[in-house]
Amino acid sequence: MSVSVPVDAETKVVGLVGHPVEHSLSPPMHNAAFRELGLNYVYVAFDVPERELETAIVGAQSLGIVGLNVTIPHKERALRVCDTVDRDAELIGAVNTLRFRERRVEGYNTDGEGFLRALREAVDFDPRGVKAVILGAGGAARAVSFKLALEGADELVIANRTYERGERLARELEERTGVRARAVELDREVLREELRDARLLVDATPVGMHPNEDEPPLVTAREMHEDLIVNDLVYNPPKTRLLEEAERAGATPVDGVGMLVHQGALAFEIWTGEEAPVDVMREAVLERL
Ligand code: NAP
Repeated sequence: MSVSVPVDAETKVVGLVGHPVEHSLSPPMHNAAFRELGLNYVYVAFDVPERELETAIVGAQSLGIVGLNVTIPHKERALRVCDTVDRDAELIGAVNTLRFRERRVEGYNTDGEGFLRALREAVDFDPRGVKAVILGAGGAARAVSFKLALEGADELVIANRTYERGERLARELEERTGVRARAVELDREVLREELRDARLLVDATPVGMHPNEDEPPLVTAREMHEDLIVNDLVYNPPKTRLLEEAERAGATPVDGVGMLVHQGALAFEIWTGEEAPVDVMREAVLERL
């Protein structure tokens, strides 16, 4: 049952810093969770230009704000303001969640764990011993690939538009986690070969994201097979053309909504210490997509 808690003098504040933030789904997602549990918290979005990030974080701390989510373009820069960071944030080189405690800034990255929880929930995925192919080498690809490496994946293949960037990520993965990792060209024929013995394909690029829903997917049914899980991290729209291709191939499609919800649920738990009402958060997101 959802409990309405009025904003009053005791209301605790959490929020988001990014630029732009006006289309973020995090405020409705978190506020629905606070209402569900009857917690006297409110989540607000702060549009902060790059030059203001440090002063915004110091100011938030002085105001007694409990914590913040951090999104584009501040994820890397915010890490440098932190007094402590968790292992995932350190490996990824970026934070997506801050908690202010005893005048210290604690940094976390919940994207990788959110990704894995979502895959476990959707298809009971176990990363141990699998080969995974990841499209992209940006922030989301880093979060996903380091998490898969740390959780026992056997082999990671990074296919990025800018080959050198993919190569740098593959090298970093090998050096820092010991996993077998390689970069390949972002080419359908190459990917067809790589996917033959792969269990998981993750698209960590914005291809197919609103308002470019009609953009051709990077991989089609022809390159996929029935034992493949295809996870598109794009969540708007939830059903992308890549996932339609996965269905056509008889593969298992997984959308990006689960990761969005679970990375948020983990931040919620860091701030409140309460178990997040994941289903309520997902409903709040789906209502707006
Ligand atoms: P990012 O750091 O900007 O990285 C974007 C990556 O996509 C880069 O590797 C880039 O390649 C590649 N790319 C961009 N446009 C491309 C195109 N037209 N064709 C091929 N490759 C292209 O972005 P990000 O933060 O990693 O986010 C990537 C996607 O994941 C976004 O759609 C975002 O919405 C989604 N995401 C979802 C969640 C979730 O919770 N579901 C969380 C995080 C991100 P280059 O290196 O060549 O530029």
